[in-house]
Amino acid sequence: MADRDNRGSDHHEDADRPGEARPFPAWFTASRYTHRIAVEILQHGPISRVALARRFNLTQGAVSRITNDLTHLGVIREAGTLLQADEPGRQDGRKLSPSSVGRPQQALVIRREAKTFIGINLHGGTALATATDLACRPVGRSHSHHIRQRSPGQVVRMLSDLTQDCVREISQAGLPSPSGLAISLGGRAEGDRVVTYAPFLHWSEPVNLASEMENTCDLPCLVFNDLDALALYEGWFGEGIGLDRFALITMGSGIGYALSEHGVPVSSPDEGFGLIGHQLVDPDGPVCYLGHRGCAQCLTTGSLAEQYSHAIGRAASLDRLVKDLEEDMPQAETLLNLTGYRLGVLIALVANVALPDKVLVGGETSYLMKRCIESVRKGTASFRHSQMVEVPVKIIDGDWLRWAQAPAARAIARYLQGPEEADKPE
Ligand SMILES: [Zn+2]
Repeated sequence: MADRDNRGSDHHEDADRPGEARPFPAWFTASRYTHRIAVEILQHGPISRVALARRFNLTQGAVSRITNDLTHLGVIREAGTLLQADEPGRQDGRKLSPSSVGRPQQALVIRREAKTFIGINLHGGTALATATDLACRPVGRSHSHHIRQRSPGQVVRMLSDLTQDCVREISQAGLPSPSGLAISLGGRAEGDRVVTYAPFLHWSEPVNLASEMENTCDLPCLVFNDLDALALYEGWFGEGIGLDRFALITMGSGIGYALSEHGVPVSSPDEGFGLIGHQLVDPDGPVCYLGHRGCAQCLTTGSLAEQYSHAIGRAASLDRLVKDLEEDMPQAETLLNLTGYRLGVLIALVANVALPDKVLVGGETSYLMKRCIESVRKGTASFRHSQMVEVPVKIIDGDWLRWAQAPAARAIARYLQGPEEADKPE
């Protein structure tokens, strides 16, 4: 099934023309099913050919031809045997024929050591970088850099230094040189290359960051909005695997929102502008910098510190709030529960409008919401009919490393699917 004439190594033909956009490479070019089965094995492996045939409604012969092609390309390998009863494919509710139950099958896995990528996230005053393998697992440790000087040239130099740190680490781990570099930031990147909006960098005009990085580091580069990148990470490698549609809300210095369909973030010309950050969540809440009373800005780190300062009658940081929570101080508990309730209201809004299968809550302060999950549920329930199903909510760890893995995840998706498939739902 695979197209045998146009496969093999990375497509780097355009690499020598400085300044010109070169297409981000695809690992191989093959039939749509070949790419989709590679992705399925990446996300659900170890998995058998029988399970793949069932999922894609293909004959086992067709699946065998495809998996042979993928083995030949070095994308997958066999890894022992597994019993069908162990397979995630059983979750689709279809019955196996009695003769196939319990027969051991060859397990297929992605060769995650076959390729490496570098992801860098720019947020506020910090750049965080990590090298990953093909399964988006970190290789070595993360590298961070304080963004002191923000001119495009200075930022490119700082990003290049971080890239070199990651390249060295990949080499020390004995893994192949990186296949691509991806950067995410709180803003917009036109064509996944040109930064047109990134308020924290104070750039006065569009900057072709991808080209600048390609010329400096000699690596194919892509640039993404950080929320979209995180949504893709969760859909491909995290809490959103296998979900048709999920919403992601992040809590931190701002409030982020992304919607993912079939593992791909829904793109919009409005992304990067903070879609739900000023939605009303509490008519009695604090006033934001735009003058709204009780908008979702009351969930941000800065507002939480301000509200807590007001509650205890002296200036307090978020750290103070966290410490007081650990000591069960009543005023801290009250603010936490109120914040949980307000988050719950925001979740109800998202759930009622976007109808997701699940709402993921991430960001640097999301972990606090695990302590007040009952208040979150109450907030959501207050804007849902009593006979509606409870909105499945997952609080994901606010691990900064995820923000650096996320653009790498998007590069991996592009590399494994090719540009045609990576950014559109089936
Ligand atoms: Zn507001």
